[in-house]
Amino acid sequence: MVGSAIVRQLLAQGHPAKQLITRTRAELDLANQAATDWFFASEKPDQVYLAAARVGGIHANSTYPAEFIYSNLMMQANVIHSAFTHGVKKLLFLGSSCIYPRLATQPMAEDALLTGPLEPTNEPYAIAKIAGIKLCESYNRQFGESHGIDYRSVMPTNLYGPGDNYHPEDSHVIPGLIRRFHEADQANAPSVAIWGSGSPRREFLYVDDMAAASVYVMNLPKVRYAQNTQPMLSHINVGSGKEISIKELAEIIRKVVGYEGHITFDPGKPDGAPRKLMNSKRIGLLGWKPRVDLEEGLNLAYADFLRNFRRIAISAHQSSDTTTP
Ligand code: GDP
Repeated sequence: MVGSAIVRQLLAQGHPAKQLITRTRAELDLANQAATDWFFASEKPDQVYLAAARVGGIHANSTYPAEFIYSNLMMQANVIHSAFTHGVKKLLFLGSSCIYPRLATQPMAEDALLTGPLEPTNEPYAIAKIAGIKLCESYNRQFGESHGIDYRSVMPTNLYGPGDNYHPEDSHVIPGLIRRFHEADQANAPSVAIWGSGSPRREFLYVDDMAAASVYVMNLPKVRYAQNTQPMLSHINVGSGKEISIKELAEIIRKVVGYEGHITFDPGKPDGAPRKLMNSKRIGLLGWKPRVDLEEGLNLAYADFLRNFRRIAISAHQSSDTTTP
């Protein structure tokens, strides 16, 4: 999802398509060190956007903890090390807001990292993402001057939009609810169940805004990035700055889909972290802000879902793997 949005963004900014090197998961398994190294040796890219990850919602994170930690550690270690080995000077690593402690002071600023215990439902994924930030920092610290490398990290809040994973159980809340409300509407079902209590609060960002922020941070002058970060606290939060309860979110999605039945809550499902609002002041001061508000973004996401529904319905039942090279 994010990788495709970054490609859209780069094309929109006038980069010729032939300069963009992409690989699908079927074409290149980034968890395979030899294959990844061969890719870098033969393509010799100048810059790398590392958006590839094994991702999923609260249920997928709890169900596949081994796959979430292993795949993400391997993919990012292989990409970052091979990028370095083959002379890539600029790399942007995409992390996640779940790197912050479960009960971090809200809104969570960059320096909340490693100040407390993580949310258990996604701890393995969060540990991998924290390791990704530390990989970038460690390569910068050891080889920044000698090799002229500059590896940066951005931490997106919960993302949604075109190309999302609409798997009924393994997806994040927005694609999960878009699909559930749509199917309930088609079936004239009297009610739709929302997982958990509906009271957790989340922040959401439309994926094309995240892509714009990624390109913006990649292209910031080195001095400005260095002035606004520290060698061992180098990541930058990217959020919308607005949070909403899951109950309120469900009401908006119900409206966007046009479903007229009731909403119920399933307390048997986990709530996860009570709040996950990031402090995105740093990227604001650096001159970037989001453009798409939640209601507009949800309408765009639902339009994308409808365009692709037949394909989504088949592939979501087949696989929960949402790796986006
Ligand atoms: P999280 O931000 O890591 O907790 O990831 P999710 O996007 O999976 O879940 C966000 C919140 O939405 C949690 O409190 C879930 O319990 C709640 N939620 C409600 N309905 C759903 C659903 O259908 N799918 C998902 N993934 N979460 C849901």
